[in-house]
Amino acid sequence: MIICFIFRILIDDLQVALEKQRDSNIRAVHSYEKYNDLDTINAWSANIAAQNPTLVSRLEIGTSYEGRPLYLLKVGKSGTNKNAVFMDCGFHAREWITPAFCQWFVKEAVDNYGSDDQITDLLDNLDVYVLTVMNVDGYVYSWNSNRMWRKTRSANKNSACVGTDPNRNFNAGWCTVGASSNPCDETYCGTAPESEKESKALADFIRANIGSIKAYLTIHSYSQMLLFPYSYTYALAKDHTELNNVAKGAVSALTSLYGTKYTYGPGGTTIYLSSGGSDDWAYDTGIKYSFTFELRDTGKYGFILPESEIVETCEETMLAVKYIADHVLNNA
Ligand SMILES: [Zn+2]
Repeated sequence: MIICFIFRILIDDLQVALEKQRDSNIRAVHSYEKYNDLDTINAWSANIAAQNPTLVSRLEIGTSYEGRPLYLLKVGKSGTNKNAVFMDCGFHAREWITPAFCQWFVKEAVDNYGSDDQITDLLDNLDVYVLTVMNVDGYVYSWNSNRMWRKTRSANKNSACVGTDPNRNFNAGWCTVGASSNPCDETYCGTAPESEKESKALADFIRANIGSIKAYLTIHSYSQMLLFPYSYTYALAKDHTELNNVAKGAVSALTSLYGTKYTYGPGGTTIYLSSGGSDDWAYDTGIKYSFTFELRDTGKYGFILPESEIVETCEETMLAVKYIADHVLNNA
């Protein structure tokens, strides 16, 4: 009787343990058609580099405020003196569709290299650096605590409010307009340009590779816009005409697939004036082809874009990114 009782307890415990394990396994399965948590994304990036050693490698470019690694995927056929495109996703934690796009881009590269002429040509002649989640601490926080979190998770002196807006934290008209010096605001610019470890790591990597990086693409949501410098001033960029033409072509390619309407133009006049953005910084640092994407939608779901829209969003965005990369390949 007693033995039977103990046995029953053991079985119950085992059952609970198995169910827990099964739940965590289910959560951990990576899918390009779902939003993936950071652990799943990090396991995916290690795996895709291991599975495609001639096309993908993973570097760590720094760590976050909370000590998480910042992984950068280098995608491209190995070769010498190649130009590069730098693309990041996940600046703002709640913009979950953007890391989904960065993952999709890498998938498209490995699936189509060698069979699709355009992808093959691009990756033979360009490297694409993909920072899948820039603001890793914020992303984890948006999964575990507050789905609408935007900023980093760094502590602020003399304030109980947490975090800096990483896209107000770069040295481009820093904290002059469309940014706040109050740590409690969503657009808090930080204590100085690159005060955030994540911004500093990104900027350091770009500075170290400034000779080869010819394009900077930063992926945000939402609004369905393709923006280029400037955002910190209404002054036109010296390459305005070319950037406007590239944006027009990229948007036309994007819209051709599902009819999704995008607007495009300089950030300041198209969306709003804001300073300290990474796109303006990259441009002023010498990267001519600097663009910000604001992916789907226009506000119906906003940051909480349903998973059912991931595939279409990624497919159409790929067309715009490939259009820009083609232009870089032929003109940079
Ligand atoms: Zn954003």
